[in-house]
Amino acid sequence: MISEKSPVSTSDPVIVCKEVNTFRGPVHALRNVSLEVKPGITCIVGPNGAGKTTLLKSIMGLLPVASGKITFLDQDITNRPTHKLAHMGLGYVPEDRRIYPDFSVVENILLGTWRRKKDPKKILRQAYAFFPKLKELSRSKGTHLSGGEQSMLAIARTLALEPRCLLLDEPLEGLAPVIRKRVAEGISELRAKGITTLTTASDMSYVPDIANAIYRMDRGEIVERREKG
Ligand code: ATP
Repeated sequence: MISEKSPVSTSDPVIVCKEVNTFRGPVHALRNVSLEVKPGITCIVGPNGAGKTTLLKSIMGLLPVASGKITFLDQDITNRPTHKLAHMGLGYVPEDRRIYPDFSVVENILLGTWRRKKDPKKILRQAYAFFPKLKELSRSKGTHLSGGEQSMLAIARTLALEPRCLLLDEPLEGLAPVIRKRVAEGISELRAKGITTLTTASDMSYVPDIANAIYRMDRGEIVERREKG
């Protein structure tokens, strides 16, 4: 699942957005959004409707960018089809997690990997190393999982595709504090593996402690940027 990539050693940005504008029907949902996602963990914080989901979907090719430029590892990816971005190493975990309710945890994890000729045992071993709880639940169906378990499963399933960068939409939202801590630890381990994360949160209580940069969004705009150690 997760290949050992070189640890975070450079401050070259992984994703750069430059003056990105996106519309959702008549709504001007992103207004000249510029940001840099450096290796490590970047968090976008903002209230409902601020444009966080729109930003992740614009990066991931799921919504058309009207103007501006998005680069991933120095390549222009503006409006590139989602499947191509996935092949380039961008992984996306949507807010609703898209767990298949009738499939087991194992089936959900392996679902996207069959075309990539990966060793399923190795993928599962790595998923369980990240989130041991998933091993206990391996035969449970998606429909029987709690919110926290679904969040872990959605992240593990995307990690099985060996991304270099993960976009996580509100992964800690609505989770009990103890589960939130476990998922946040998982996100922190990604950094140690050399995987860059761009995550969103509705308020500061859902920002992983380990975020090294925080952007605050409001009404489609970046209104504040904070770098942490
Ligand atoms: P939330 O946490 O509620 O998802 P968000 O910060 O992710 O908030 P977005 O979902 O990106 O915000 O919404 C940004 C703007 O786009 C809001 O004004 C919202 O009303 C609008 N919007 C979102 N989805 C749609 C849609 N499907 N059609 C039209 N407008 C939409």
